[in-house]
Formats: sequence, C-alpha cells, structure tokens
Amino acid sequence: MPVVAGVDLGGTAINYTLIDQNERFHIESLCEHPALSKQGPEVCLGQIADGLKMATDRAGVMLDDVVAVGLDTPGPASAAGQLSARGSTNFVHALWSGFDIRGGLAHKLGKPVSYLNDGNAAALWGHYTIFGSESKETSVSTIIGTGNGGGIILDGAVVKGKNGFGGELGHVLLPYQSIADTAGMKPVCNCGRVGDLESLCSLTGIEKNILPYFLPRYPNHELARLEPSKAAKMVRGLADKGDALCREVFRVQAHALGLFFDEMINTFDPDALIVGGGALETSAEFQAWFMAEILVGMPRQREEQRGIPIYVMPNGDTAGARGAAIEALKLARESGLM
Ligand SMILES: [Zn+2]
Repeated sequence: MPVVAGVDLGGTAINYTLIDQNERFHIESLCEHPALSKQGPEVCLGQIADGLKMATDRAGVMLDDVVAVGLDTPGPASAAGQLSARGSTNFVHALWSGFDIRGGLAHKLGKPVSYLNDGNAAALWGHYTIFGSESKETSVSTIIGTGNGGGIILDGAVVKGKNGFGGELGHVLLPYQSIADTAGMKPVCNCGRVGDLESLCSLTGIEKNILPYFLPRYPNHELARLEPSKAAKMVRGLADKGDALCREVFRVQAHALGLFFDEMINTFDPDALIVGGGALETSAEFQAWFMAEILVGMPRQREEQRGIPIYVMPNGDTAGARGAAIEALKLARESGLM
C-alpha cells in the first residue's frame, strides 16, 4: 500500500512518521534517529535516508511503498526549502549555508519531497486535527517552546510567503504595555524587537524578561537562588502547582496571547486559533486556567467573532513530522501518486 513519510529534522534528532492514503498513521509514537547535522549536509542526508529505512522496517512497510516524503526543518529557509545563506541556528556547518535541503533530499532518496519550516509543519498538523486534509478553513497556530513558532493555514493551504517567512508569528509586535501589572517591563526578543510575541511567549522570554521582572517582588522565592536558565525551566511545573509568582508569569503569557489572537482575528477572521508547545504540557486544570486567561487578555470582540474557538494542539512532540506528512500527502495526491 502506498504511504508518505513525514521527516522532522531538528538540530540533534530526526523524527519520522508514515501515513497511508486512508490517512492512517503507521507510527504513533516518537521514532527518532540522530541527525548529525553538525557534520554537514552529506552526512545528515545519509542519516535521513538510513532513518527512513529504519522507520519503514519498524512499521512493516516497504521502503519502495513510500511514494513521497514531507520534510520540515527549523528555518530560516525559502518556501522551496533552500536554507538561508546565513545558515540556520540549528545547523552549524559551513556547507549548510544556502543549501537546497529539499532538492538534496529528493535527489538522495529518488522520491518527490515537499518542504515546510518546522513552525508551519506543526501549524498544519494542528489544523488537520480539527479540519482534516480537504479543508477550506483558516486557522492560526502559535507554539510556545524555547522560542515561538507557528503558522497560518489560509483556506486550507499553508501561508509560506514570498521569502519563506510567512507565518513567522513570533516576531509580530504586540501592544504589550496594555497587559495589566507590567508597568516598566521592557521585553527584548533575540531578534532585537521589543515586545513581540516571542519576547513574552517563549521559555527564553520567561528567562530574560518575565521572570526577572517579577522575581524582585518575591525575594525569598526558591527560584531567586537559581541560575536564570534553570529557574525559567521550573516555572511551568511550579505554576501547575499553583505557585503565585509562576502563575503571574503565565498570566502575562496568556494575556500576550490574547492580544496576539486579537490581531489575528482582525487580520484573518479565522475558523480556529490553536496553541501548542511545552507551555501547555501540564495538568488539565492548569491548561483550562491558561486558556481562560487568554480570553481575559483579549480585547472585546465583535459579536460575530466572540465564538472563534481556541484549541490546544495535540501530539506536541510529533507535530512537526505529522504536519510534514500531511503536506507530502497533498503532494502525492496532486501528483497522482496516491
Ligand atoms: Zn523577535
């Protein structure tokens, strides 16, 4: 039976999934292989091919039955899958600069390959879980991790943009000064902007901006004794247990998301908004609190737009591979391979 593969290439690991024409996944959990990306494109493409064989063996599928492959990687990269000339943050080797990773993989495997950046792949997965593969709906996804990824699916198709920066939502500026009880906060992002989505809605944003702002109010707090990077990683667990300082941190994130979603509602009038990433890998009780706080932080909507649903993205750690597979499924169907 023909299948397509989803290949999520990160800096250290490659994750695989397989999906057939009936949209049944043949790999349900993480299926990883070392990326060896620091050894350059040739070694890494070899690793992807070896790992694909391993994944098909594991699923009991013939490698020849893989009719198309969907690849996703961290950006920046063009919509066609050419990595930025300045290289990608996760691929540290001179030969990656400007490398056509989609074309390189298609040549290596002898199969058609589709390409998405990792944020857009996860966004497509989130969209698919709600609307399926033949959708004409519009959704906006944001994924809160170390940084902030995401993407826009417009009328069922991924918005890639002219230069591959479509759906680069982390660097959209927010009127963050309107978030309650943050007077004097100056959230600086790694990109240099002040007050964009990533400067608040990311683990980096917690470490560099939100936690240093609130911590002086809690001088005896256990996090005050830790290195900032260690302290930031503990905020989620403590917030889940009800710690007041850590709830403040996530309140600011939720209200920032409310402002961001307001901008997206006014831009796209979408069918759905989706939140994913490590920030929501918590108890159901905390998730419900966080989602309610997003609405608290959102400016008042028009009557017609008050019911736009906000979903939590499922299968967080495999979202990239699954989204890449959905993109490959489209390619296979359009090419008559499936
Ligand atoms: Zn930024």
